[in-house]
Amino acid sequence: MVPGVVVPQRAGWRRLLTALIGEPVALPHGLAARWPELSRVRWRVDGLPLRVGGWCLGQRTVTGITLGRTVFLAPGTPWAPRLLLHELRHVEHFSAVPAFPLRYVCESLVRGYARNRYEVDADAFATARLAGAPPPPLPLPGA
Ligand SMILES: [Zn+2]
Repeated sequence: MVPGVVVPQRAGWRRLLTALIGEPVALPHGLAARWPELSRVRWRVDGLPLRVGGWCLGQRTVTGITLGRTVFLAPGTPWAPRLLLHELRHVEHFSAVPAFPLRYVCESLVRGYARNRYEVDADAFATARLAGAPPPPLPLPGA
């Protein structure tokens, strides 16, 4: 085997793996300097979770979705601070709210996606951080 040469069979596996779990990407330095808390997140591009999130919303994919400490971004998604901060708040939800995924789904079923209190909180968090305000506390259902 020659180093640096991609064997077609391995390229196929790599594409499959990327479709399933995405690929790790580094947060742009300027964003990490402005919002250091974004460095706590594992960022990946692509992956099956984006499609599953999209299916739940009746669309092909979503722009971003959070699972634990990992945020999956759709390929080609700009590094928009509002989106990144929104997803960071979901990382905090995962660590602070017991059974967060289940509660999130219940919120969406009862209130709908846009009025899901975790979505409202993530939007408020992003707005506050973009304005330079300190992060609001986590007064959330189930927290
Ligand atoms: Zn969200």
